[in-house]
Amino acid sequence: MQEKTLKSVKENYEEIVARIAEAAIKSGRRPEDITFLAATKTVDAEIINYAISLGLKYIGENKVQELLSKYEQYDLKNSRLHFIGHLQTNKVRQIVGKVSMIQSVDSFKLANEISKQSLKHGLKTDILVEVNIGREENKSGVMPEELENLLREISVLEGISVKGLMAIPPICENEQKIRGYFANMRNLFLDISEKKIDNIKMGILSMGMSSDYYEAILEGANLVRIGSSLFGARNYN
Ligand SMILES: *Cc1c(COP(=O)(O)O)cnc(C)c1O
Repeated sequence: MQEKTLKSVKENYEEIVARIAEAAIKSGRRPEDITFLAATKTVDAEIINYAISLGLKYIGENKVQELLSKYEQYDLKNSRLHFIGHLQTNKVRQIVGKVSMIQSVDSFKLANEISKQSLKHGLKTDILVEVNIGREENKSGVMPEELENLLREISVLEGISVKGLMAIPPICENEQKIRGYFANMRNLFLDISEKKIDNIKMGILSMGMSSDYYEAILEGANLVRIGSSLFGARNYN
């Protein structure tokens, strides 16, 4: 491990924690109300564990294969592991019992499989429902107008526990536009909370990444997923 890498991860970590705290206070909340999850794709386990040693409590992987290859190495005594990427139904059994939350559930079929596999292990898996807030074609997530129906359908599944919503808005340069997507998510989150669907808890609103987590928090996010701002630009080779 390079000294230089560690030094920059430490500096980045401290800067992100400070900016999260600032945005929390600006939006009338406390710094500890916001969960900082590090998106760890392409990052070696020893660097992830270094970030955990600095105080990071949540990590998230977006590919099953990569998660499994690093699984034995993560320091999960001091952190919790989420799955945050697109998940195929046939891979669910490989991660149930290993992750504390699956953030990217967008169909009954997927929720049902997570429930089934969880019950096999005698547990319940926490999930978030992913919303395609930008209504983008070929992108994961349920359409906003289908959200309530999906939540009602999956509310009867005994092996999952719905904890909130997640979104990845379209990439856009314009800050007003991105804040608009975040605001739409917050409104959806509040609307659904008010419906008080049995067994559905709307506690977590997961949105905001390296380029926009500050704005996401101002618009109501309470979980942000940050990769490149913490670990540096990704190298996929
Ligand atoms: C990679 C990733 C992130 C973080 O992206 P950065 O721009 O590097 O902060 C957040 N969410 C998901 C689902 C990701 O795959």
